[in-house]
Amino acid sequence: MSAASSVTAHRVAVIGGGPAGLMAAEVLARGGVRVDLFDAMPSVGRKFLLAGVGGMNITHAEARPAFLSRYGKRQAELTELLQDFDADALRAWIHELGIDTFVGTSGRVFPTDMKAAPLLRAWLRRLRELGVAIHTRSRWLGWNADGSLRIAGIDGEQAVSADACLLALGGGSWPRLGSDGAWTSLLQERGIQVTALKPSNCGFETAGWSEHLRNRFAGAPLKNVALALPNQPARIGEFVLTERGVEGSLIYAFSAAIRDTIETEGRAVVHLDLLPQTPLAKLQQALARPRGKQSLAKHLHRQTSLEGVKAALLRELAAPEAFAEPASLAPWIKELPLTLVRPRPLDEAISSAGGVRFEDLNAQLMLKTMPGVFCAGEMLDWEAPTGGYLLTACFASGRAAAKGLLAWLGDRSDICH
Ligand SMILES: Cc1cc2nc3c(=O)[nH]c(=O)nc-3n(C[C@H](O)[C@H](O)[C@H](O)COP(=O)(O)OP(=O)(O)OC[C@H]3O[C@@H](n4cnc5c(N)ncnc54)[C@H](O)[C@@H]3O)c2cc1C
Repeated sequence: MSAASSVTAHRVAVIGGGPAGLMAAEVLARGGVRVDLFDAMPSVGRKFLLAGVGGMNITHAEARPAFLSRYGKRQAELTELLQDFDADALRAWIHELGIDTFVGTSGRVFPTDMKAAPLLRAWLRRLRELGVAIHTRSRWLGWNADGSLRIAGIDGEQAVSADACLLALGGGSWPRLGSDGAWTSLLQERGIQVTALKPSNCGFETAGWSEHLRNRFAGAPLKNVALALPNQPARIGEFVLTERGVEGSLIYAFSAAIRDTIETEGRAVVHLDLLPQTPLAKLQQALARPRGKQSLAKHLHRQTSLEGVKAALLRELAAPEAFAEPASLAPWIKELPLTLVRPRPLDEAISSAGGVRFEDLNAQLMLKTMPGVFCAGEMLDWEAPTGGYLLTACFASGRAAAKGLLAWLGDRSDICH
């Protein structure tokens, strides 16, 4: 008996209508089960829609080994999940929804119109056609003693019986969009260990900027700078100086390492190269030229093009004595130490690290101690930088968990019949 025909009579609950839950619902409905999807919010896909506001970066076109390396400590687990649904498969799936994609100069992949809303609309239409019943304003509160699901809606609480359930509750960032991390205690009550949710792809604070820097340059972007951490290759990119520290894509790329270093050592020192295209010797030579009556700021600008927020950051972070002799500023420009002392709070982060540990799940993403309960998406304990890696893994894990669930139901039907 095929999995699809053996599971037809089953009813499955998907909790959470983000990319992972919606993808799971699609696979489950195609697999022939009745799918009820519950979401606490008045509409589904809110974080997905927000991700589309600045340009929906849905995946990345870089070569597979580089792509997989973005999942850091969880590369092995994510490699398994992405086996069946990688960046190319994700793009093909989007194209099937009638949405075209393109690869940006950095390798990031976007829908042609850069937006999430048309994609979500087309997707929800497809899910309706597949018979998925979406119940919004329906908050999952855990399980009743008989194993049924506690769902609180506008008319009060109901007990929902399902043959299996798939949790896709998201992480803990931007809680006003629905993923508030409240599920962690619901699973802990059932004896599941959950790694604490922590900010990922987040900004960091310094011990405090000078008033001058904060007042004049908070909000200013530092473009074309390189950032390096010990034992990590430097990367060139950009970030923004904030009231309390720094944020932006170059910082996010290192956020896991910076956060972990702060956790163990109390602070993390990153090194900035303010002029990554200019070799140190050339810089020293340029700065050693006579400056005549020019102010140091003008000399710096004339000889190196440093000005504005970059020059102000140099003034803030380089040793005061280095300014006595311009040429001695060159090493500071190439390796400016920036000490970061704490990440910004989880609710401001793009995503979260932590969650359900892979050690507590089987290869099909079912909780080992709770047969019939599957987990997917950002609520699993992995993290990745921005660049489309987050959404790709959410989609892929939603599919993997749904396939695992169908197989599990299929096996049980075979036993029952
Ligand atoms: C500002 C911003 C920009 C981003 N940009 C990008 C980007 O460009 N590219 C990228 O790859 N990623 C991006 N991301 C990250 C990406 O959006 C998330 O990783 C992804 O949405 C996570 O999907 P998910 O399905 O696991 O969870 P979510 O999308 O968080 O969905 C979880 C759902 O579960 C529901 N839920 C939670 N608890 C309950 C409960 N108890 N009962 C019922 N329902 C519940 C929530 O309401 C929510 O709808 C961005 C995130 C943010 C905040």
